[in-house]
Amino acid sequence: MNLRTLFLTKNLCYEVGKKHTPKGIMVHSTGANNPKLSRYVGPDDGLLGNNPYNNHWNQPTPGGRKVCPHAFIGRLKDNSIATYQTLPWDMAGWHSGSGRLGSAQNANNSGYIGFEICEDGLTDPVYFSKVYREAVELTAFLCVIHDIRPVEPYLIDHSEGHQLGIASNHADVMHWFAKHGRNMDVFRADVNAEMAKIANRELLKAATKISNRVPGGINILMWSGNDREWKGKYADALLLKIADAWD
Ligand SMILES: [Zn+2]
Repeated sequence: MNLRTLFLTKNLCYEVGKKHTPKGIMVHSTGANNPKLSRYVGPDDGLLGNNPYNNHWNQPTPGGRKVCPHAFIGRLKDNSIATYQTLPWDMAGWHSGSGRLGSAQNANNSGYIGFEICEDGLTDPVYFSKVYREAVELTAFLCVIHDIRPVEPYLIDHSEGHQLGIASNHADVMHWFAKHGRNMDVFRADVNAEMAKIANRELLKAATKISNRVPGGINILMWSGNDREWKGKYADALLLKIADAWD
């Protein structure tokens, strides 16, 4: 996972800043053929690339809509895949719309983290396998740090959210996953397998908490490997960051 942070601080959702306790995860895809992160995340940090239309979602109501997910997965300027966190995980996002149970019980208002995978033309198996893998790793990470079980109804896509009455009537992500022989049951199983690989869960939770509070954050890409290796590589860096933050 290549996790980076660029909060959409000018988005109305961020300005409202409603807090929530993450209880579930809703997986989305954008519904438009544009795999570039710069379409949605900006301004350019040097890795994203320039958005010539300046229509990224770091503005109050992108395209006149009240929308803001917690993260996007897609392509950087150099065509590699990354995840950009765009809202604090403990802030309510605007990603689900409402279903038959109404807005008070929709996913936005009931603790669901929502992330968007940038769609391409939906037929390229190489792009799909890369963003699918990134989504599995991001979801495993989120499940670990928030103690979310990778089962229904805690880990669902937008279309399943609609069936549950907590999201608007959209087809994502099944309309895309199915073209590549995947579905949400396979995704949940893959996330479960990925979670089993995550060592140092408590240290990862602590690192994530601190990362959100220190300038520049902490690189938390690295949970795999044995305990000793992880601590040797990262615990020192973590302690230094904490010490620096106190200066
Ligand atoms: Zn959606």
